[in-house]
Amino acid sequence: MFQSLAGRVAIVTGGSKGIGRGLSARFAAAGMKVLVVGRSQADADATAAALGPDAVGFSADVASAAGCAAMAAFALDTWGRIDVLAANAGIFPAAKLDQMSEDDFDRVIDVNLKGTFLAIKAVLPAMKAARKGRIVVTSSITGPITGYPGWAHYGASKAGQLGFIRTAAIELAPWGITVNAVMPGNIRTEGLDGLGPEYLAKMEGSIPMRRLGSVADIANAALYFASEEAAYVTGQNIVVDGGQVLPESLMALEEMDVVV
Ligand code: NAP
Repeated sequence: MFQSLAGRVAIVTGGSKGIGRGLSARFAAAGMKVLVVGRSQADADATAAALGPDAVGFSADVASAAGCAAMAAFALDTWGRIDVLAANAGIFPAAKLDQMSEDDFDRVIDVNLKGTFLAIKAVLPAMKAARKGRIVVTSSITGPITGYPGWAHYGASKAGQLGFIRTAAIELAPWGITVNAVMPGNIRTEGLDGLGPEYLAKMEGSIPMRRLGSVADIANAALYFASEEAAYVTGQNIVVDGGQVLPESLMALEEMDVVV
């Protein structure tokens, strides 16, 4: 699938764990060179080492313009090009509105939304010079479609990413750079595991496919957006959630059980 990706260079922010590690693994399996980025150099190195010699770890905080610039410079120094950016790094600490501090709000927006902007801005000079590029943002169903108590700031950041890519896609179209987003449902990652077994079990019960998603489910969708074959698709988003957003009520799920 997507032979065009062999030899291309990808940067994956938040590539050391969870969905980002799945993206890194999928890109590496497609023959790409991958810069695995996270704040922890040790974690980024460990993930890269597991992927083989064409993957390299790098430490940067996407909320920092200098960190994102260093990340792009390192990829260029190492491989001479940047073909794909997966702007995936994100955090999802929960806080209900009466407990949510201004700092809580700012940090989530800084990492998830500003970090998306800064990572994209950092790779643009190289992509524009090549007159080609693929940017794939990891958004979520939470915010653009659904809500969940404790995640008002998170949902705003994830909906904001979709607003951002629509204008970015228009601005970058003349340069041959596409900007699209994947919107995961509940995907089994370290981050999600941190929400506890009760959350995981209940969430599984609210998904028509009756399973949490895998990081491979997300990576396969991202791989399409990253490919040459997706050259004419930009400013779009795809939900990958096992049907989670579809039931209009609990009754719809109960009815499903009766049928099965
Ligand atoms: P995760 O398992 O917690 O992994 C997060 C990754 O991002 C790690 O590699 C982490 O490495 C890195 N990271 C966190 N803050 C960073 C920062 N400021 N700068 C650079 N790297 C940073 O999370 P995940 O579940 O895979 O989520 C990844 C993305 O998918 C997020 O954007 C999230 O909103 C989105 N998403 C996840 C789900 C889900 O069900 N898991 C659903 C919808 C959307 P360090 O800790 O070393 O920095």
